[in-house]
Amino acid sequence: MALTEEHAAARMKGIGGSEMATILHKEVAESGDTVYGCPLALYFEKTGVAADYPFPETGPIKRGVALEPEVARLYCEETGHTIRRLPHKTSKERPWEMVSIDRQIIGEPEGPGVLECKTVGRERWFQIKTKGLPLGFVLQVLWGLYVLGPQYRWGAIALLWADGWEHPHFRVERDQVLIDMMAEKAAAFWNYIKNRTPPKKLKYKDPRCQGCRWRSSCQGDELIEAAGQDIESFEEIEVDEELSPKVKLRMELRDIENTAKAQRTEVEGQIVEGMAGREIIVAGGHRVIRKKREGGLMIDTPRMKRDAPEVFEEWSKSRADSWPLNFYPI
Ligand code: SF4
Repeated sequence: MALTEEHAAARMKGIGGSEMATILHKEVAESGDTVYGCPLALYFEKTGVAADYPFPETGPIKRGVALEPEVARLYCEETGHTIRRLPHKTSKERPWEMVSIDRQIIGEPEGPGVLECKTVGRERWFQIKTKGLPLGFVLQVLWGLYVLGPQYRWGAIALLWADGWEHPHFRVERDQVLIDMMAEKAAAFWNYIKNRTPPKKLKYKDPRCQGCRWRSSCQGDELIEAAGQDIESFEEIEVDEELSPKVKLRMELRDIENTAKAQRTEVEGQIVEGMAGREIIVAGGHRVIRKKREGGLMIDTPRMKRDAPEVFEEWSKSRADSWPLNFYPI
């Protein structure tokens, strides 16, 4: 869904729950959750700095909008809770504190609750299975509880992984310590905006910069420098739109590969911990074996080059030419 002018203008008036993960990006990263947002990009958005690239109409955004009613329906079917839509709200004392919750849960003895509906893709789903509920989702619910008032003491996150049609839901209790910390950080961020003081930019190699809408004006020189070693001239580089879908597909596959690798390492660590020193177990239809493999010797090439260059020379052989394929964002 494209970010309409009306939508963009509304977002500039304050801070909402979906932005908490960006504002608390360090805490989110420390929790082991993937950080998608950048505080500087959020600052650009809130202060109306023109982006270099349009808001992407990505499939996951359209999927989230289209499936939100279904996620809410599944939640009600499984819990028996009653839900309804609640209009956009702002705090009376601090009008820049805004919230647009997916649904309000009503009719429960503990009072009204906040429901957030999330449709997740495969990578996110496996991340949740590996590491648990992302902190960013929890922060969003807590922000809703905070802005709507102390009578909101609980909330829930309903998930849908559409490929596997799995739809768990999780209860979130009001956590005043986290709420206070979040409110303080959000106020500090809002001060950046009011005082037109931009937060620090990320290092240009940060993956968040690769797809950022402000990447050219924010990191242009560094991004170009990063590619400079392989490019003799930035003038007259041919644009080949026919290859664009393949390049985009390659970048998506690279992301899947990186995420899957990180998640596999994480889950293997959990298995080792669960094996608690046992050498062999049977689980999940497999024999799982963890035995010590004796270490061996290896050549310390940098040292040999430095201390015995003649030996290195004598035992070296030439390597065939290769044609590595490198990709740099523009
Ligand atoms: S290019 Fe990087 S540092 Fe700059 S706004 Fe975008 S994500 Fe943030």
